[in-house]
Amino acid sequence: MKVGVPKEIKAHEYRVGLTPGAVREYVAAGHRVMIETDAGAGIGATDDDYRNAGATILTSAAEVFASSEMIVKVKEPQPSEWCQLRENQILFTYLHLAPDPDQAKGLLKSGCTAIAYETVTDAHDGLPLLAPMSEVAGRLAIEAAGSALKRSAGGRGLLIGGVPGVQPARIVVIGGGVVGTHAARMAVGLGAEVTIIDRSIRRLRELDELFEGRVRTRFSTIDSVEEEVFAADVVIGAVLVPGASAPKLVRRSMLSSMRKRGVLVDVAIDQGGCFETSHPTTHADPTYEVDGVIHYCVANMPGAVPLTSSQALNNATLPFGLALANKGFSAVLENPHLRAGLNVHRGRLTYKAVAESLGLPF
Ligand code: NAD
Repeated sequence: MKVGVPKEIKAHEYRVGLTPGAVREYVAAGHRVMIETDAGAGIGATDDDYRNAGATILTSAAEVFASSEMIVKVKEPQPSEWCQLRENQILFTYLHLAPDPDQAKGLLKSGCTAIAYETVTDAHDGLPLLAPMSEVAGRLAIEAAGSALKRSAGGRGLLIGGVPGVQPARIVVIGGGVVGTHAARMAVGLGAEVTIIDRSIRRLRELDELFEGRVRTRFSTIDSVEEEVFAADVVIGAVLVPGASAPKLVRRSMLSSMRKRGVLVDVAIDQGGCFETSHPTTHADPTYEVDGVIHYCVANMPGAVPLTSSQALNNATLPFGLALANKGFSAVLENPHLRAGLNVHRGRLTYKAVAESLGLPF
């Protein structure tokens, strides 16, 4: 199959749909890969790196769209991209269509077949193409907290791990899923005192086994959240209720009882945030203060580390992308996990929840 990768054009997006390493895999499987010039610049991959991996470099996105049977991207197509898609062309990327009627109409009009990373499933009821970004965000959350805790950044002036003879930071992670587990791993690694709060007892049992006593676990109630938040130097918000806005677990009235110049990192901000006082921030200006507590609420945390994020994303997308390249649309019909990723096909919405939230026929 002819597979094309245009350069990402959404503001501040530095990731790339296929890394040179992934291109080698496609080429080794007998496919032709066309890359727009400079597509890998954000991760330090040159056109020569892609040529060496077996790709053909094209000078414009228009050429990539015109010559490819499948387009592999990272972000949802922008207006100038969706009008270049056509019938029988496969689009494989993050779409997040539910809140985006304009994009949905653009894709429907194009007649293309769009498979959304975020709804592809795996055999364990997981979302394998979302998980790598949660892993990245969870690990980054502790780095962000460490920076915000510095006195120069307005924080308590505390080193996460302390030093011998001086107590470390107390870090509370609310939500022990993918983000929370990876945040806890980093925090434990740095020597922090870590508590994970979750509303799933099964998950708490798994975490207890995983960390072998190096984290405390608590069942999520109003009482336990209050107790832990009031005693914490850092709170990481990492809850997810699938398909719903994040519950507000830390209210503004609680901030005055928290440690002064403590830090809240709201990773769940992309679902509205789980602290009442959260609002989205950017990497350029990531923190703000409310009632003496520093808030970090960057909505696209993985964007800070496009090299790691692109590689992690490519590792996850590669088997699905290769299946699509090998078999075309038949791969979607044969594989229920890819089928779960199908959002648009030949002018029809094929994902019920997306159609319902857009008020369009399914
Ligand atoms: P996940 O489903 O793996 O984990 C969520 C956990 O929250 C589950 O264990 C669940 O039991 C727990 N939970 C739900 N309600 C709770 C409550 N009331 N109290 C305590 N725990 C509760 O999800 P994830 O992949 O870890 O993602 C977490 C959040 O991070 C999501 O909102 C996701 O969109 C977001 N995220 C943000 C970024 C970013 O850049 N800001 C990047 C990746 C993910």
